[in-house]
Amino acid sequence: MLRLVVLCVLGLYAQPSTFITDTPHTCGDCAAWNKAREPFKVYGNTYFVGTDGLSALLVTSDAGHVLLDAGLTQSAPLIDANIRKLGFKTADVKLIVVSHGHFDHAGGVHAMQRHTGATVAASESTAAALRRGENTTDDPQFGFGKEFNGFPPVTDVKVIRDREALTAGTLAIKAHLIPGHSPGSTAYTWQSCEGNRCLNMVYADSLTSPSAPGFKYGQRLVEFRRSIEIVAALPCDIVLSPHPSFTQVDEKLRKRAELSGKGPDPFIDAGGCRAYAADGMKRLEARIAQEAKP
Ligand SMILES: [Zn+2]
Repeated sequence: MLRLVVLCVLGLYAQPSTFITDTPHTCGDCAAWNKAREPFKVYGNTYFVGTDGLSALLVTSDAGHVLLDAGLTQSAPLIDANIRKLGFKTADVKLIVVSHGHFDHAGGVHAMQRHTGATVAASESTAAALRRGENTTDDPQFGFGKEFNGFPPVTDVKVIRDREALTAGTLAIKAHLIPGHSPGSTAYTWQSCEGNRCLNMVYADSLTSPSAPGFKYGQRLVEFRRSIEIVAALPCDIVLSPHPSFTQVDEKLRKRAELSGKGPDPFIDAGGCRAYAADGMKRLEARIAQEAKP
C-alpha cells in the first residue's frame, strides 16, 4: 500500500509539463490579461482555452486540432494547461491561425509551434509581423516601439489569402481579411455541430483603433469601414473576438450558469456579428471625427 502511494506521488511529480515558455512580455495590462481562466466549451467542437483577457480557441477533431491565437508569450503555458484540462493533447494541434500580429495575440505562437510542430498560418501582413517578431511599419501601433510591440518571431508561416479555406484533417476554417485594427487583421469562420445542429462560428478580429502618437488612418479609414461591413455580413451564429470582453464572454458565461441548460444558450445570437460591427463602427466614427480635427 505504502509502495503504491509512493509510486502515485512519484508519478505526479514525474510528469511535469514539458511546455517551454519564451521570455514573458512586460506591459501595463499584461498581468490582468494573463490571469488564468477555466477553459470551457463554446459550442460543439469549439472550446475557449485562453486567459481572462485574451482569447485562444481550440477547434477539435479526431484527426487533429486547430488553435486560433495564442495570447501573450506567457499565455502559451496556460493555453497548453487548458487544452490538457479539457482532455485533449496540445501536441495534436496541427494548425495555428492568428487574428493579427500584435504581441497580445501572437506572443505565444512561437512556443506553441515549437511544442506542437503545427503549421502556422496568417494573412500576408500578419505573416510578415510574425516573422519580424514585431508589428509591421504600417501598423497603427508601430510607433510605440519594439520594446512594447516585440514578441518571439515565428519564422515558418504560411500565408492565407482572402476567402481561402484552410484544412487540418477533417476541419476547415476560412479566412476573411478585415484590415483596420492592424493591416493584417483577419476574421475566421467555420462550422461546429452538436448532433445535426451545425452553427456558423466567427472569430472576428479587433475593430478598435488604438494607435501610436501622430498616426493617422487617413484614406485607410475607408478600408476599415469596409472591413466592419464585412464582419456585419458574415454568416454568424456565435461571435468571438481576440479580447473576450469585446463580445461579452463573461456576461454570456454568467447567464449560461444562471440558466444551467434551461433556456437558449446566450452564446448563440444570430445578431452577434452585427452588434459587434455596430460597436466597432461607432468607435470608428469617433476616430474619424478625431482625425478630422485640425
Ligand atoms: Zn491588437
